[in-house]
Amino acid sequence: MNESPKTSILKAHDLKKHYTLKAIFGSEQKLKALNGVSFALGERQTLAVVGESGHGKSTLARQLMGLETPDSGSITLQGRPLSSYSKKELQSLVQMIFQDPYSSLNPRKKAWEIVAEPLRINTSLSGKQCLTKALEAMEMVGLHSGMGHRFPHMFSGGQRQRLGIARALVQRPKVLICDEPVSALDVSIQAQVLNLLGRLKEEFSLSYIFISHDLHVVRHLADRVAVIYLGKIVEEGDAEEVFDSPLHPYTEALIRSAPSFYEKSRFKPMRGSPPSPVSPPPGCPFHPRCPLAEARCSKEVPGLELKGSDRRIRCFLV
Ligand code: SF4
Repeated sequence: MNESPKTSILKAHDLKKHYTLKAIFGSEQKLKALNGVSFALGERQTLAVVGESGHGKSTLARQLMGLETPDSGSITLQGRPLSSYSKKELQSLVQMIFQDPYSSLNPRKKAWEIVAEPLRINTSLSGKQCLTKALEAMEMVGLHSGMGHRFPHMFSGGQRQRLGIARALVQRPKVLICDEPVSALDVSIQAQVLNLLGRLKEEFSLSYIFISHDLHVVRHLADRVAVIYLGKIVEEGDAEEVFDSPLHPYTEALIRSAPSFYEKSRFKPMRGSPPSPVSPPPGCPFHPRCPLAEARCSKEVPGLELKGSDRRIRCFLV
């Protein structure tokens, strides 16, 4: 069992991020992308953040990378506020792997130049030193250094994602934010990239935030899981426990609606569509889709309660 971390490398406390949207006739609406998210990522841990699209996962990734600042709440990295790091310092410690390996690679640059880019921007290494380190990083992810002079279109989808991983690793960061890193790949290639990420985590003592809508993907890699719905964590705990005995109705529905988990007889599609984050339902935001909803669920908002030593659930019935 993976307990919530005692030595955290990355911590988020009560993060809120609301965007103002302008409607056609000039009125404004608030999109509550993150609505009080807290978690701690332990050293060498993988925390999976799962949920359907549009529930705040990518907003969270941008906050953790320092690309956007939260409206309120705090993020600390190695015990220091994220905002106290310079851009260069932050990039040497935290890097991101993107969903679409092709659009994140400059098509006019050679593979080694793409991988070396963080070194060129953030360090004073010479061109020759950058080349050497980039080719080393390519070898680390299983790409032959002889491929360094090829352009991105000459690589397969899986190889392009490996290039993205090499670029993220070239400065030897401590934390990788993986934003749906295999969802654009064929299933057979997904397994290879996930195995690679698992190996690299051990080899370089990395910590991962692994963002995904696909529980099947997350199950093989995660130590802990945080399930997010409309910008709030609804369940968080040890990955094995969450998968084996989900307590929140949304977690259970997510697991059952991932066909690769259960035999066909147990597959059950999720009820209804996700509500808009611009006008979330009152009370428990999951109540219009929840098979267990009671009268109070549409009026009162459940808090995130501790259950046992390190499981957190946001539901009146648990
Ligand atoms: Fe379902 Fe009510 Fe629990 Fe929300 S609080 S998940 S609506 S039972």
